[in-house]
Amino acid sequence: MTVEITNPWTGQVDYRYDYIDAAAVEVILARSQTAFPAWSALPLAERGAFVVKVGAQLREHRERIAGIMSAEMGKLRREALAEVEKCAGACDYYAAHAADYLADQPIKTEAVRSYVTYEPLGCVFAVMPWNFPIWQVFRFLVPGLMAGNVALLKHATNVPRCADVIAEMVQRAGIPEGVLGVLHIDNAMAAKVIADPRVHAVTLTGSDKAGRSVASTAGQNLKKCVLELGGSDPFVVLDDADLDKTVPMAVSSRFGNAGQTCIAAKRFIVTEKIADAFVQRFVEASRKLQVGDPNDAATTLAPMVRADLRDELHGQVSKSIAAGAKPLLGCAPGQGASHYPASILDFVQPGMPAYSEELFGPVASILRVRDDAEAVRVANDTSFGLGASVWTTDKARGEAVARQLRAGACFVNAIVRSDVRLPFGGTKASGFGRELAEHGIHEFMNIKTVYVD
Ligand code: NDP
Repeated sequence: MTVEITNPWTGQVDYRYDYIDAAAVEVILARSQTAFPAWSALPLAERGAFVVKVGAQLREHRERIAGIMSAEMGKLRREALAEVEKCAGACDYYAAHAADYLADQPIKTEAVRSYVTYEPLGCVFAVMPWNFPIWQVFRFLVPGLMAGNVALLKHATNVPRCADVIAEMVQRAGIPEGVLGVLHIDNAMAAKVIADPRVHAVTLTGSDKAGRSVASTAGQNLKKCVLELGGSDPFVVLDDADLDKTVPMAVSSRFGNAGQTCIAAKRFIVTEKIADAFVQRFVEASRKLQVGDPNDAATTLAPMVRADLRDELHGQVSKSIAAGAKPLLGCAPGQGASHYPASILDFVQPGMPAYSEELFGPVASILRVRDDAEAVRVANDTSFGLGASVWTTDKARGEAVARQLRAGACFVNAIVRSDVRLPFGGTKASGFGRELAEHGIHEFMNIKTVYVD
């Protein structure tokens, strides 16, 4: 089947490619199986040297890679360049820290010697999304390579050149053939790959719908899986928050990457005393954002990735307004192919899509609450549990609130972001398992107990 890729800014089809057939999938699976023994047997320092070279290739080709990202999914040039650098940094980080993370861990028992040792699982199959088309891949790939695993990548259908350029960087770094295989396949073929005995584990970043499907295939085949799904992160503004600091962070967290970020702040839960002042300043600051050409340095809001997802978002906004939410800014589709302006809905209440669903685009929901206790209750009144942030000048108060929020990560006076040094992942419908840091590298390893008496 031929797939057409539409540039989100121009609305023009500027690339076509074909899914590969079962015979081509077989070749890639076989190469992966062949590559694993030698790759996993390499001394860790040698795998680290290869991974550092991948980072160097990313830096050398950053402009070209950023151009591909902008063309395929509309990311602003500066955001794309920052994403490439973040991936290169992850290469350096894991190369430097993997030896510590993978060292045997002695555990005192009555045995002469007992300890935990970490062994690679084999081949990890990754199903990845378009929103951070390089970073989401590197987040699983780099720790995986350091662990001694080999990888197969099925990227989102709309970012094929991102997948290919990642494979090119790995190849340019001299990593042997088969250590990373790219599969341009549809979701039915992906299910067959999950079931294949040569594949040992699966990792997915994407919607909860995709998560349910991938996890059920993995479960049927008794394969370990990690799921990084959506979120509807609360951004809790307590009544003593410093608005000079809080408002710019609210704008950045909600509207960066055109709002298409799993850990973006989506529900702004604002306590009564500060609500009017926060809302007024948030609207003023957000009004300045301009949708435009991602390659133009003056553009401050990227177009959305696809027209169908823009229309879906607008459907959620329209239903929320019909149910009583008050549009303060935007809330109507822009002129271009898949543009949506910076939008804010006030007085969001239970029963509205903006309250209970993820809004995966540039729309902020304001939920007004009485006090800290109600803020915690409303923040937790969601099926998701990815990230959360709390804003206050009293750090102890912020920490007390943060500890009551049911999420994989809670930040006080900082926006939720992924950081290679910290574990990343969710609870509830936001998925399970962790990426990054020490926890991430151990996800796809056999945590083996050795007991010598
Ligand atoms: P999807 O979840 O559909 O896509 C993410 C990845 O999963 C893609 O590679 C996709 O492949 C794949 N996929 C989808 N369905 C299946 C399936 N049944 N079996 C195997 N793989 C599957 O994201 P969309 O692009 O449709 O975006 C829709 C929503 O997903 C957003 O509104 C947002 O809520 C959420 N999302 C969350 C992300 C996050 O970071 N947590 C990232 C992206 C999206 P293909 O492209 O070929 O369908």
